[in-house]
Amino acid sequence: MLVCRTIAEFRAARATISGSLGFVPTMGYLHEGHLALIAAARGQNAAVAASIFVNPTQFNNPDDLAAYPRDEARDLAMLQTGGVDLVFIPPAEEMYPPNFQTYVTVETLTQGLEGAARPGHFRGVATVVTKLFNIVQPTRAYFGQKDAQQVAVIRQMVRDLAQALEIVVCETLREHDGLAMSSRNARLTEVERAAAGVLYQALNGAALAFENGERNPDSLRGLMRDLIEAEPLAKIDYISAADADRLEELHQPISPETRILFSLAVWIGKTRLIDNFLLQ
Ligand code: AMP
Repeated sequence: MLVCRTIAEFRAARATISGSLGFVPTMGYLHEGHLALIAAARGQNAAVAASIFVNPTQFNNPDDLAAYPRDEARDLAMLQTGGVDLVFIPPAEEMYPPNFQTYVTVETLTQGLEGAARPGHFRGVATVVTKLFNIVQPTRAYFGQKDAQQVAVIRQMVRDLAQALEIVVCETLREHDGLAMSSRNARLTEVERAAAGVLYQALNGAALAFENGERNPDSLRGLMRDLIEAEPLAKIDYISAADADRLEELHQPISPETRILFSLAVWIGKTRLIDNFLLQ
């Protein structure tokens, strides 16, 4: 496994790869969810690249950026075990040199949900992902359904800008109680960790109600809200039942052809967690 810290080093290593290249962008503090993306990339490509970069421009809250967990040595060992060939792990100045002034903005899809709760977040994501794609030049890039709006935004960006790669989306990996794996889970205390299962319970509750015929989006959001509010350590940021393609909140009774995205952002103590269920 070759570890590159500069764009020039990575480009030189990339030039030696002739077959297909799968790419998994991450912010590090890796877990099984990241490893599943790497395994998928391994299965579909001749070589695999991963990046570790805690992208400052996608953090609207400086405390969140400062508290983001990091462990480079552990991450590199996990990437090596996962069979990654090339790692790109640049310092912030390599990605954002002085006088950096070009950003990518995806307009409508970024208005709601995470985009509304975290102004500027998706501008940072779209910009860094575009720059990573330009550096890595992957055949395919792998993203988790855990970040549902990010997947929609990146697909839109790739289509709109004719970026020459395929986007592959992998299902969300979960802990035994259903909690979606996340680097941020490491910040939870033991009691908070126990409380965090409520996100999954709320999504599951809404999905079950839908399966049992509930078609009123207000009732489905209300059901999730009641389940989260019953957990004293949880504080709701948003709860959504949206059209999965447009990411707009549903208000009319849900029609059979609608693909629904149930999603939520919930504070457990000082940690903000997100999760979603996609109902096809
Ligand atoms: P992050 O390091 O959190 O930016 O995540 C890097 C990639 O891993 C993103 O495409 C995430 O959607 C994906 N990912 C994060 N958590 C999970 C999970 N629990 N299951 C599947 N993919 C995930």
